[in-house]
Amino acid sequence: MRIAIIGAGIGGLAAALSLHAAGFDGIRVYERAADIRGLGVGINLLPHAVRELTELGLGDRVAALGVAPGSLAYYNRFGQEIWTEPRGLDAGYRWPQLSVHRGELQLALREAVRERLGDVVGTGHRLTEVTEGPDAVAARFATDTGPVEIEADIVVGADGIHSALRAQRYPEEGPPPWSGLTLWRGTARGPAFLDGRTMIMAGDGEQKFVAYPLSEPDAAGTARINFIAERRGTGTPAVDWNRAVEAAPIAALFAAWRFDWLDVPALIEAADEILEYPMVDRDALPQWSTGRTTLLGDAAHAMYPNGSNGASQAIIDARTLAYRLATEPTVPSALAAYDADRRPATAALLASTRQTGPERVMLLARERAPEGFAHIHDVIGADELAEIAASYKRAAGFDPAALNARPSLSAVRS
Ligand SMILES: Cc1cc2nc3c(=O)[nH]c(=O)nc-3n(C[C@H](O)[C@H](O)[C@H](O)COP(=O)(O)OP(=O)(O)OC[C@H]3O[C@@H](n4cnc5c(N)ncnc54)[C@H](O)[C@@H]3O)c2cc1C
Repeated sequence: MRIAIIGAGIGGLAAALSLHAAGFDGIRVYERAADIRGLGVGINLLPHAVRELTELGLGDRVAALGVAPGSLAYYNRFGQEIWTEPRGLDAGYRWPQLSVHRGELQLALREAVRERLGDVVGTGHRLTEVTEGPDAVAARFATDTGPVEIEADIVVGADGIHSALRAQRYPEEGPPPWSGLTLWRGTARGPAFLDGRTMIMAGDGEQKFVAYPLSEPDAAGTARINFIAERRGTGTPAVDWNRAVEAAPIAALFAAWRFDWLDVPALIEAADEILEYPMVDRDALPQWSTGRTTLLGDAAHAMYPNGSNGASQAIIDARTLAYRLATEPTVPSALAAYDADRRPATAALLASTRQTGPERVMLLARERAPEGFAHIHDVIGADELAEIAASYKRAAGFDPAALNARPSLSAVRS
């Protein structure tokens, strides 16, 4: 079967590996960029995605790229603790959570594709148009040497938040809607904080700082730390993952955020590079799949990073697509089943991230105690805190008991 995957990001590469593991050949990946340089900063792979990578035989390889956080802790903007919960293996999952560099993960997946499928990634191919017939799909690309057209049995649009396939299907959609928040992402070497394995989020809906280690502490007690600084602002910055800006003005916004356990402005000042990105997402769609084409990853459901679920959901899409193609009798029925499995689930998650997902505890703390608190339970009860965390996990498909018990998505076509 000829399967054309558009985009060699996390979702597209995971789709190629999943389809190969499910017994498909004839897989090609078409990537707009002239080469795959492994861009970005840190991302989190939640246990439901690590399970899928493990079942693809990539668990150890991906685990070696980063750190498995043992807990996630929320603080207010004064550095006072609101809620801490165990994560990954410490929370009873059979699979860890992993904090990794997005670019290193992309390059590792790219390498695995090369080893298992051969030279199937065509760079310098920007999808421009897809024409679907009853028995095949034609895909057209712009390349340095002129237009190229290919024919495939299935076309999967894994081409990110600016997806060309999605734009062709939904031409009225326009640019991604902006939340009014701007994100500044970076990595820096700095003193390991708390127990060296904790992901933290401090602040509220107006201004926030997220940090987590991407390496174990070295002999001097420093680690490579990923951070995202966030603030409500005016004007929409460009929706471009690679826009670099100066550190000093960002550090100045956080000048008062020097906690006894983390010096936020110092970490921002120490960044190798700061990348500015607006907090944007996409509205849920009424349909992803037509007879022979579908969408996957950010192309299907770009969502806010709160909840750290973007890459994880793309990997689950990839595995579900392969499972359905391996087990359904026809291409249209498989793509329809994939759509039914994944679209409502990711739409619910998208809605939850717009309500700030599990970070709602930070908004409540700010609303009820804008100047801080003596003890969090004076402000938010223990049950309310626990329910906010649990309801997000249920919506995102990583409730520990449900994930541990769910049947595998591994299947091989007959
Ligand atoms: C350069 C870059 C840096 C990123 N950095 C971060 C980060 O630091 N933190 C974070 O949380 N998320 C980051 N993301 C987004 C994150 O990777 C995704 O949210 C998530 O992993 C889902 O991945 P995806 O494969 O669906 O989309 P993406 O990872 O966005 O991959 C889409 C791929 O499709 C390619 N593409 C786009 N249009 C076309 C076209 N017309 N034809 C062919 N190929 C096309 C893109 O070049 C890209 O390689 C980044 C994305 C990119 C592209």
